[in-house]
Amino acid sequence: MNAKQKMRHILDIIAGMFPDAHCELNHDNPFELTIAVLLSAQCTDETVNKVTADLFRKYKRPEDYLSVPLEELEQDIRRIGLFRSKASNIQKLSRILLDKYDGEVPETHEGLTELPGVGRKTANVVMSNAFGVPAIAVDTHVERVSKRLAIAKPDDTVLEVEHKLMKLVPKDEWTITHHRLIFFGRYHCKAQNPQCPVCPLLELCKEGKARMKPAAKTKHNKKNTKIRIEG
Ligand code: SF4
Repeated sequence: MNAKQKMRHILDIIAGMFPDAHCELNHDNPFELTIAVLLSAQCTDETVNKVTADLFRKYKRPEDYLSVPLEELEQDIRRIGLFRSKASNIQKLSRILLDKYDGEVPETHEGLTELPGVGRKTANVVMSNAFGVPAIAVDTHVERVSKRLAIAKPDDTVLEVEHKLMKLVPKDEWTITHHRLIFFGRYHCKAQNPQCPVCPLLELCKEGKARMKPAAKTKHNKKNTKIRIEG
């Protein structure tokens, strides 16, 4: 099986496992999605959704975020990690949107990445989810799964992982693949406790096979111990 065939197999398996994978950050428009992704850095989507449930009721447009003192915005998002720098970035970003883009979120990658707190990953998520432009955003789950499945090398940068995925995944599947890899990493190939024993990709996953070995050894040792005790 060459690299493309292997990728095809992985894509088909994860499509079967997570046919409804989607963006789990609640939002109603590109601006809310940009704020939600910015808030999600080093924070779970679940926590972000709890905070934005109130936040998006109070702040609807960029001018709303600028109408309060920074301290008030900090308090409104205080349950989120790095809330001080995120609050500051939200206000700076809102100012730029008003000054340069008539209060709208720019629809270009360059425009998005110029905004404070918006990196390549956030820009990819916004471009693909809000504007329908194919993109593969590499977050912690996508990176971990890609490396475990040897789609990327262990020491590849996030950008290298993204480029390898873009090369192997058909362009019209970039966005859905991003979601499916996140679901696969979040609910199955988890950071701490990947479900290798029941994984349909175990056959082609060296990492999974290596992880299964200690378990087999431990079982074997336990059996031997039992035999010795009984003996
Ligand atoms: S075998 Fe284990 S490590 Fe490999 S993809 Fe499956 S769950 Fe992840």
